Amino acid sequence: MSDNKANHLLKEVMEIKQELGKSVVIPAHHYEMDDIVKMADFLGDSYKLAVDCAATEAEYIVFCGVMFMAEGASLLAKPHQKVLIPDKSAGCPMAEMIDAIQAEKVYSKLSNLCDREIIPIVYMNSYADMKAFCGKRGGTVCTSSNAAKIVKYFLDQGKSVFFAPDYNLGINTANQLNINKDEIVTVDKKLSFDNDSFSNSSDCKNAKMFVWDGFCHVHKVFTVDDINSFRQTYSQSRDGANSISVGEKNINVIVHPECSEEVVNASDYSGSTSMIWKTVKAGKEGSVWAVGTELRFVERMANEFKDKTVVPLRKSVCHNMSKITLAKLRDTLKSILDIKSGRIKDGIQLDEIKVAEEYKENAKKALELMIDIVESGK
Ligand code: SF4
Repeated sequence: MSDNKANHLLKEVMEIKQELGKSVVIPAHHYEMDDIVKMADFLGDSYKLAVDCAATEAEYIVFCGVMFMAEGASLLAKPHQKVLIPDKSAGCPMAEMIDAIQAEKVYSKLSNLCDREIIPIVYMNSYADMKAFCGKRGGTVCTSSNAAKIVKYFLDQGKSVFFAPDYNLGINTANQLNINKDEIVTVDKKLSFDNDSFSNSSDCKNAKMFVWDGFCHVHKVFTVDDINSFRQTYSQSRDGANSISVGEKNINVIVHPECSEEVVNASDYSGSTSMIWKTVKAGKEGSVWAVGTELRFVERMANEFKDKTVVPLRKSVCHNMSKITLAKLRDTLKSILDIKSGRIKDGIQLDEIKVAEEYKENAKKALELMIDIVESGK
């Protein structure tokens, strides 16, 4: 798109947004494109966005992120609120790696094998059926910013945890909590088949964590070789003629915990997108940062923190987040304006995000428990 067209579109969206005033809020995830971020009322990781959405009174929440996030906002929405997303096809492959039918089967097999009560915890990156499954079984939701806190909350009560769908976040969380390897059992999809039984059932007896083997393809691509070659490149440039004036610890690698255990262990820091942002921001002037997460977020940090060198550990883009474009946001805002101003014929409805009735109560319960554990410091 030419700069002229892009500026025109930006102006158009701003004008419609202004006209809609306080009746609309736009939450946007850190991985969204810059133009979308410019239009956002709240920007953050999935935890921050869930909390911000739960606190807003705006009539319309136009969620710029992927479907599971908009679904989460809809679960926490008040009766007068409507949640919309500019493109309903913005999904998340990781969230699709487990559903409640599979989870129920696995959960009942594991419960028969484990001496401890098992509590299901699902990553925010999941659909409402999985959140409802957790709510129904006394479990909850977690995000990358609070996974350790949530898992610890249940382990401290002598319970075990069934963690899904992201294997890497599960293992990295277990490491953070110093859980021994022999207390962790990997659960693969085959266990959800009716006639499949657990090959290493004796490991389940005293296991503390059962971890599903899902993954995020955006974060799975980072390798320890990427880290080594970054460190090599920058330590050489430090010694070279055009050296960056940096001292010890000024060459840093920071990654998201959806990266593999090896990558997280080889990095200096690991955390949610909000934690990554804060850590790099607080870094010393002149420091160098390789960041292992979604490319647009890394590029935004590079533009924002000019006193540092911020580079992607590898270029990896979430194409589902890219589906939310300025033109689609404009169309969504316009449809709200049309409905509100009566320009649209009676009977035409907005294409709202609605969670199936059967999941609503338990999924909401699971989400509220997460917020309660985190906010009350339980
Ligand atoms: S970055 Fe990964 S987990 Fe996040 S929405 Fe994209 S595919 Fe899903």
